[in-house]
Amino acid sequence: MSTAGPPATLDPYAIREDFPILSTVLHGDKPLVFLDNAASTQHPRQVIGALTEMYEKHYANVHRGIHWLSEQSTDLYEQTREKVRAFINAAMTEEIIFTPGTTASINTIARSWGDAHLTPGDEILLSVMEHHSNLVPWQQLAERQGAVLRHLPITDDGHLVLDQLDELLTERTKLVSLTSISNVLGTVNPIREITRRAHDAGALVLIDAAQHAPHLPLDVAELGCDFLAFSGHKMLGPSGVGVLYGRAEILDALPPFLGGGSMINSVQLDRFTPADLPAKFEAGTPPIAPAIALGAAIDYLNNLGLEAVHQHEVQLTRYAHDLLEGIAGVQILGPRAEEKAGIVTFVLEGIHAHDVAHLLDRQGVAVRAGHHCTQPLHDRLGVTATSRASFYLYNTLAEIDQLGDAILHAQHVFRRR
Ligand code: PLP
Repeated sequence: MSTAGPPATLDPYAIREDFPILSTVLHGDKPLVFLDNAASTQHPRQVIGALTEMYEKHYANVHRGIHWLSEQSTDLYEQTREKVRAFINAAMTEEIIFTPGTTASINTIARSWGDAHLTPGDEILLSVMEHHSNLVPWQQLAERQGAVLRHLPITDDGHLVLDQLDELLTERTKLVSLTSISNVLGTVNPIREITRRAHDAGALVLIDAAQHAPHLPLDVAELGCDFLAFSGHKMLGPSGVGVLYGRAEILDALPPFLGGGSMINSVQLDRFTPADLPAKFEAGTPPIAPAIALGAAIDYLNNLGLEAVHQHEVQLTRYAHDLLEGIAGVQILGPRAEEKAGIVTFVLEGIHAHDVAHLLDRQGVAVRAGHHCTQPLHDRLGVTATSRASFYLYNTLAEIDQLGDAILHAQHVFRRR
């Protein structure tokens, strides 16, 4: 039995003191209300400080020099790999590959594993709610290898139709690649159960954790997935760095994707032998300083506790649902507040999403508008564009009130036209 008590509650006002950008005032007198966190989050002083300190005191290329600075830089870079390993509870640091982000991580597997293992007629199972980053690399792979793509459908309220999973998992299914949290609907998918069922059917599993890693604890040992991908910039870290996790015995047997420096043991004019993990998948100079600053972001999240972060976002999401459901003409997409992460995507009757985002911005409220890199999902939902408010640990209930006021204002402006 766990002896841990309930997660500590967050004080977003105290947290905001760490984020210089959040005190921005725009359009003359509008305090910034930043609700575009699913696209990219802001940075605390601790992360900005880690980046600055790296460049001011420790920077050199890694794994190359035998000079003092390079050793420091390499030590910090490798210490961060260990932080990431612990953050997702991977078995060993060799399973942690630094990449430029989720997109690059997924493409690495599509190229390395996909090109080596798929033959014509093999199947990959995705879902209708995937981000383009978890659709297009597989479409490209299917084109190269003659593979077949299948898609788990969703219900009208944004859940995966699990009843169809067994039917869609055939003896030809080689991989199931799914998002664990939808970047539009906020749906938290039952990835543990899906992983188990996919493995029973003989398929490997890749989890797109871009919207999971920043918001909820991750445990790849418990999950049992074979690959997992996430991005630093969605979890307080800098852009330009992300993570690919892969089970060591699978990664070990794969050919490298990108070729160049660092990923080799030896090179002759006509051939090379690849390096061991993780270097085999880190060709060229890696994102050294961003990776180290990602380590600072992980420290920051660990200090707060991801369970507490999640509870805070649940509270914000419930509050936002209650508020927006009370405004005539607002339609929220996806599941009930209790069944999702801190994402509230909505349509305002009679106002295009781009106009909504523009009018909200005039009130200082930053939301995203468009298809959010999920065109097939929007097709399924029968809408071309939506507005998305997405929350993080520094958002407050008062900011959600400001979102509500800004929506009412937008409606008022449109009624006057
Ligand atoms: N997958 C999901 C679910 C996302 O939300 C995103 C980004 O919005 C991505 C993949 C792509 O992440 P990146 O642009 O950092 O590669």
